[in-house]
Amino acid sequence: MVKEISVDTIWELLHKIPDPEIPSISIVELGVVRNVKFNEDNFHITVTPTYSGCPAMSFMKDEIVRAMEAEGISNYQLHTSLAPPWTTDWMSTEVKEKLKEAGIAPPSEKVQCPQCDSPKVESISEFGSTACKALYKCNTCAEIFHYFKKF
Ligand SMILES: [Zn+2]
Repeated sequence: MVKEISVDTIWELLHKIPDPEIPSISIVELGVVRNVKFNEDNFHITVTPTYSGCPAMSFMKDEIVRAMEAEGISNYQLHTSLAPPWTTDWMSTEVKEKLKEAGIAPPSEKVQCPQCDSPKVESISEFGSTACKALYKCNTCAEIFHYFKKF
């Protein structure tokens, strides 16, 4: 290999892959990428799927494969880890802030309107565009928004 590829390079590449549903958040920020290790000439990338109801995981894996291929990296292995299970607690405060900016109520004990912060909200549907999100309506500003379910 001519090009110097390090574990940091891999992290950088992964950081550029957006969540398929919330493009302002990368799969690293989402907490899906758990680990990158270099061992016996191979990079080992460990991912933990989000909710089982989310169809995005195979898409994310395809994106990882594509990102590696684009850089000419072939000495890597993709691992899936199911324990511990993915949780929204792995999202940083910064990421939750980004969700809010995207008009999505971040996971929390108490759902608040992402537009006006009102706690006076009601659930319209337990399933929004995907199983990960519920549809809510704000009774203060009438905004209809998605809530990223706490998990
Ligand atoms: Zn509101």
